[in-house]
Amino acid sequence: MQNKFEKMINGFYIDPQIFTTKFVKACDACICSGECCYYGVYTDKKEYEKIISMKDRIIKSMDDSQLKDPSAWFEEPETDPDFESGIAVGTEVYNGKCVFLDKQGFCTLQKMAIEDGEFKWKYKPLYCILFPLVIFEGALTVDDEHIDRMHYCSVNKNQTVTIFEHSRDEIRYLLGEKGFEELIQYREEYLNSIKEEKIAIQK
Ligand code: SF4
Ligand code: SF4
Repeated sequence: MQNKFEKMINGFYIDPQIFTTKFVKACDACICSGECCYYGVYTDKKEYEKIISMKDRIIKSMDDSQLKDPSAWFEEPETDPDFESGIAVGTEVYNGKCVFLDKQGFCTLQKMAIEDGEFKWKYKPLYCILFPLVIFEGALTVDDEHIDRMHYCSVNKNQTVTIFEHSRDEIRYLLGEKGFEELIQYREEYLNSIKEEKIAIQK
């Protein structure tokens, strides 16, 4: 895939904006109510199949604000090359939130994994894990459009770190340990190049 970004790690182009764009230090559903989940998410077809295969277990962890009918959890599949299988399946919105968001602002898929002593992201869709980052046209980049809809994490005064710093674990999950080390090196090079450009302009 053609892309305007020069650096590629583990099959993803890297948008250097992730090193400079500001965000909140940490997510806290008690403050934001998990509002990034109000619009649903696109899952990969494989993730969708995994979720559906767990339907009975998921229902057990849902509360009275959530739909217990698995046939109403997802939209129709659509083609999307940014997804591993080439097919994306959106989650439906019910009660003004993703069908998997509970009334306390927690993702049932993550809650369920923790309840069962599994890795917390075992059932969580990749695009949920990555936000405020997103994979768009083959590049790991900032999900500006979705961030702009938020009332807590989009506010300047709450943004005290960069998205890279906020999302270290999530990026490491995507790129793997080796890929993450490569990213750190690229970050250093990129930030140095910005500094040098600024110095050159001031001269
Ligand atoms: S990304 Fe924003 S809205 Fe979503 S959980 Fe974090 S702080 Fe809350
Ligand atoms: S699947 Fe979970 S994390 Fe993703 S949008 Fe729905 S509630 Fe949020």
